[in-house]
Amino acid sequence: MRPLRVGILGATGAVGQRFIQLLAGHPWFQITALAASERSEGVPYRQACVWRLPTPCPPDVAEMMVHPCEPGLDCDIVFSALPAGIAREVEERMAAAGYGVFSNASAHRMDADVPLLIPEVNPDHVRLVPQQQRRRGWSKGFIVTDPNCSTIGLTLALKPLYDAFGLRRVIVTTLQALSGAGYPGVPGLDSLDNVIPYIGGEEEKMAQEPQKILGALSADASTVIPAPITISPSCNRVATRDGHLETVSVELERRASLEEVIAAFKGFRSLPHRLGCPSAVEPTIIVREEVDRPQPYLDRDAGRGMAITVGRVRPCQVFDYKFVLLSHNTVRGAAGGAILNAELMLAQGMLEAWRVQP
Ligand code: NAP
Repeated sequence: MRPLRVGILGATGAVGQRFIQLLAGHPWFQITALAASERSEGVPYRQACVWRLPTPCPPDVAEMMVHPCEPGLDCDIVFSALPAGIAREVEERMAAAGYGVFSNASAHRMDADVPLLIPEVNPDHVRLVPQQQRRRGWSKGFIVTDPNCSTIGLTLALKPLYDAFGLRRVIVTTLQALSGAGYPGVPGLDSLDNVIPYIGGEEEKMAQEPQKILGALSADASTVIPAPITISPSCNRVATRDGHLETVSVELERRASLEEVIAAFKGFRSLPHRLGCPSAVEPTIIVREEVDRPQPYLDRDAGRGMAITVGRVRPCQVFDYKFVLLSHNTVRGAAGGAILNAELMLAQGMLEAWRVQP
């Protein structure tokens, strides 16, 4: 079985580097193209990029040329780590040219015909893809997105509660790592010894995206009917490096005991893991019993960074229950999530167009 040839748009950035790290030695995907801005174009990757991950850049990737983000890239599918502002047009152009686009950017997340996918939560939403192709006149290409980095952790934790007890209202406060702002991100003098109580656009995304992800696919698989959950997020930037911590209070539809809530988290099972997707982990939700976990420094790499950690599950004085969750923002919340989306589609036979016609 030949690996699918993948390209990375925005390969030099914080998320782009994670893609390269996570795809090194991947059994199903092989990096064959790198692309970034005009600044990086036409030089080898090692020259275009200041590598900032603790594991070395794979030597073969370091020597690859960086190309413009345009059709003509030598690959089958692309992972997009582009800023949202340019992602809309570039991703559409790539999909129209026949590439499968797996995006981290927010540009297309809320388009009615674009899956906003977390493979453990709403794998059936990939069924939007054929409608998307018909509606947009794309014979082979498509766009699939993964959610905002804070939304992914939150929605993974909400899913077992929503299924078991229903959810009415959620209040969530985030403490988000600096790497969530890309590189160089927030200036040192603004972030050190400080908390910034505002992240542009983040609260709107966290309020909306879980409704789409937890929503039901319409009968004709053309759109998603949003889940009727009201979410009130407050987002803060703190001086951690990686890992978004979130404190969450939930109001359930039906009464549940604390033991039942914890059992719902612990009983959550992963379809992509069952399908043998290489990036899937079991458990996807790790429940810690200690009073002072999860912590970013100790828990962000749990399950190779693909699991979320939930702790301090307890009754809430205002709603029903409250808890703390942690997820790795550039792995689970970005590159790892997008790779898992592609693995799910490959495992389900939805990327055959490229496997039979090299
Ligand atoms: P970043 O570190 O600023 O990297 C941006 C990348 O896009 C670089 O490779 C840059 O290339 C390229 N780029 C910038 N302008 C371009 C242009 N006009 N044409 C082509 N390429 C261009 O940002 P990031 O943190 O990796 O984020 C990338 C995307 O992922 C964003 O949409 C972000 O919202 C999303 N995201 C990020 C996280 C996170 O935790 N960081 C999590 C989830 C989603 P050059 O080096 O050549 O300038």
